[in-house]
Amino acid sequence: MDNLIETLHLLQQQQRRPVAARVGALNVAELRARVPAPVLAHFDRLTAHGRKAVADVRHGVCGACHLRLPQATACNLAQRHELRFCEHCGAYLRFVEDPTPASPVASVA
Ligand SMILES: [Zn+2]
Repeated sequence: MDNLIETLHLLQQQQRRPVAARVGALNVAELRARVPAPVLAHFDRLTAHGRKAVADVRHGVCGACHLRLPQATACNLAQRHELRFCEHCGAYLRFVEDPTPASPVASVA
C-alpha cells in the first residue's frame, strides 16, 4: 500500500503543475493507470473541487485541513499497512517521518 500512496502523491504533484512543467518520465496517464478505479474516483472528486487529494501527515496532523487525526489513524499510518483518508477533509493520508520532535505545548503559568 506504501507504493499506492506514493503514486497518488506523485500524481497530485504532476496534475498541479502546468502541462509544460511536468517531468517527462512521470506520465500522468501512466500514474493514473496504476491506481485502482475507486481510489482514483475519490482522488478526482477532491481535486475537481480544488482540494488536496493527498495530504502529508506530520505529528499526527493532516497537512490538508490541519486538524489532528485520531491516535489510532496516526498509528496505522506509521505502520503503512493500508490506505487511509482523513475523516475531516477526506484527503488520502501520507505518513511523513519527521526527525524533529513535536514542539512542546506551552505550559500555562
Ligand atoms: Zn484532513
